[in-house]
Amino acid sequence: MGIQKNIEEIVKQIDTYARKVGKNGRDIQLIAVTKTRSPEEILEALSRGITDIGENKVQEIQAKYDKIDVPVRWHLIGHLQTNKVKYIIDKVHMIHSVDSIRLAREIEKRASASGIVVNILIQVNAAGEESKFGVAPEQVRSLVDQILVECEHIRIKGLMHIAPFAEEPEAVRPYFKEVKKLYDQLAEIRHPGLDFSTLSMGMSNDFGVAIEEGANAVRVGTSIFGARDYSKQ
Ligand SMILES: *Cc1c(COP(=O)(O)O)cnc(C)c1O
Repeated sequence: MGIQKNIEEIVKQIDTYARKVGKNGRDIQLIAVTKTRSPEEILEALSRGITDIGENKVQEIQAKYDKIDVPVRWHLIGHLQTNKVKYIIDKVHMIHSVDSIRLAREIEKRASASGIVVNILIQVNAAGEESKFGVAPEQVRSLVDQILVECEHIRIKGLMHIAPFAEEPEAVRPYFKEVKKLYDQLAEIRHPGLDFSTLSMGMSNDFGVAIEEGANAVRVGTSIFGARDYSKQ
């Protein structure tokens, strides 16, 4: 199947899952994950209704940025090293992967120097996987509080979660539930630096369960573009 057909299929599925929980497809933001994909493939997706793309490496955003010469919102969804913040700070619509005060301080410093406010999500590691980045659920509140005190040029827009890989997506439902609960608690905070709108969870194999559990942004790569070939990079 081609990119166009795949996108139509995903959009339909998203709508179906959204309706199960009293929403509809328009309430769910589809972020097409374009890591390893060529500018040509990305441009095709953008001509088929995609508006938001996600990359997990700073270098890939830099390499592709000027070649994507149509309106698009870039999302950084992978781990961000502090020394690379400066390269993407004025390019991305949202950073999904903030997981330390050290990184937040660097974002603050660069955003302040550029006179901009940067939208971020806090990455939560609900399953406690050592191989994954992210903050343990019980430490999210203190990181949020610290950012609100120290970082005037950051707006915390929500949470991001990457579930452990599971053959059967039902297996990760409890993690999505836990992150949604945390999201709802934090959304109660009244502070100019916090404006919750985005719960980013769900990928090709588990976005249905994620939407059922309250995700309103899903990050889908393989189901749109096919399997990735890392050897081509
Ligand atoms: C690669 C990636 C995705 C997309 O995964 P697929 O299984 O290809 O849909 C989503 N989120 C993050 C953080 C990723 O790195």
